[in-house]
Amino acid sequence: MSEDGFVGRRTVIRALGAGVMLATVGSTAKNRDFKPSYPRAYSRKSWSAPRISMDAVIRSIVGHRPYRPNGFRVEREKLDDKIIIHNYGHGGGGLSLGWGSSALAVREVAGLTPGEVAVVGSGIMGLCTARLLQDAGWTVTIYTRDVYRHTTSNVAAGLWFPSSTHEDDKVDAEFLALLDWAARISHHAYTNLTGTKYGIRWLESYDLADTPFGDSGGSSFSDLYPYQANLEPGQHPFGNHFARRMVTMQINPGQLLRQLTADFQIAGGKYTIRNFSDRTEVLSLREKVIFNCTGLGAADLFGDSQLVPAKGQLVYLPPDPAVDYTTYGGGSGGEHGFLHMDPRSDVLLLGGFFKPGDGSHNVETDETERIVKENRKLFDSFG
Ligand SMILES: Cc1cc2nc3c(=O)[nH]c(=O)nc-3n(C[C@H](O)[C@H](O)[C@H](O)COP(=O)(O)OP(=O)(O)OC[C@H]3O[C@@H](n4cnc5c(N)ncnc54)[C@H](O)[C@@H]3O)c2cc1C
Repeated sequence: MSEDGFVGRRTVIRALGAGVMLATVGSTAKNRDFKPSYPRAYSRKSWSAPRISMDAVIRSIVGHRPYRPNGFRVEREKLDDKIIIHNYGHGGGGLSLGWGSSALAVREVAGLTPGEVAVVGSGIMGLCTARLLQDAGWTVTIYTRDVYRHTTSNVAAGLWFPSSTHEDDKVDAEFLALLDWAARISHHAYTNLTGTKYGIRWLESYDLADTPFGDSGGSSFSDLYPYQANLEPGQHPFGNHFARRMVTMQINPGQLLRQLTADFQIAGGKYTIRNFSDRTEVLSLREKVIFNCTGLGAADLFGDSQLVPAKGQLVYLPPDPAVDYTTYGGGSGGEHGFLHMDPRSDVLLLGGFFKPGDGSHNVETDETERIVKENRKLFDSFG
């Protein structure tokens, strides 16, 4: 796609107003608290195995990814006398795509004179959209059923790794170009926020598999990950697995959302708690321009039958500060989704569960046991 085409990155940034996004996300965060430990040499001493056992489990939680097999929806439509801009359906990659998808959404009002605007939803999409609109001169009110603590965004594991965003055979080249730009813009934005203020750090990540990785490691954004290397068994401590090393960002969702909420309020943004029961109620808002950032809520509110919940389950253990790398894959995979171990400052988080079409809220005890057992097995070879 040409740089002057519909989704060119320069076009998007220009449309937002010179430097708007960069100003927002480049604010005051610095890398002072950042101590790089990579890429590590293969020496057993440089690795610490996470302490994983069932008796260390604090709790398991369930979350539902807003999954659209045909990809996320960023689109403007006219309904009655209102302009609605949709920004939802990011599946398992919404935290990663927050700034980029929201930049594409805000681009849709670039030709309008800024005035009052409504943002429905206060997960990552609602907050990023609201902040970008504020920087572009709009007066923003967020209407939301839940404050950030109770959103799906607050449940995300937090790896910057846009994945499970669509099914390959259900998307076209235009969507893939949008995804690519959303990922790159978002990556750029997050790199300006690393540090404790927004809860973002750089971390070594190891993808694990039974067969060798190709040159790109299977990722379309492989150029965004520094220090990549394909490692054979024997070049790492993960037993017989093949490993692909990369460095990416780890986001603590609670910290990020809390800070974005504070930034929004400091910039004069208003919050109204409101649960909309249907589209008519949304259209009755006083604002003429409305951003729909309702995640899964969009299925009922706007009758989107493509949008389904993809159930996830995460297991929390006490944090283990000695573990300074993350792992992805290496378990039974398949319908369970990719196994992952994420050493965050608030918890040691284990996952590996992805069930599209399942909107149930119960914690599945057998899945907790499987996630713990399979994650623990990855580190047996550490001795
Ligand atoms: C287990 C799990 C792990 C994940 N891990 C990662 C990861 O590591 N990396 C990554 O990039 N992504 C990850 N994700 C995906 C990511 O969490 C989602 O894609 C993202 O949070 C979606 O954000 P959102 O703002 O669109 O939706 P949400 O966070 O769900 O926010 C929707 C907002 O809309 C409001 N709303 C909904 N309906 C209504 C209504 N009727 N009236 C008023 N308000 C309404 C809600 O109250 C909420 O404020 C994970 C998801 C899960 C479940």
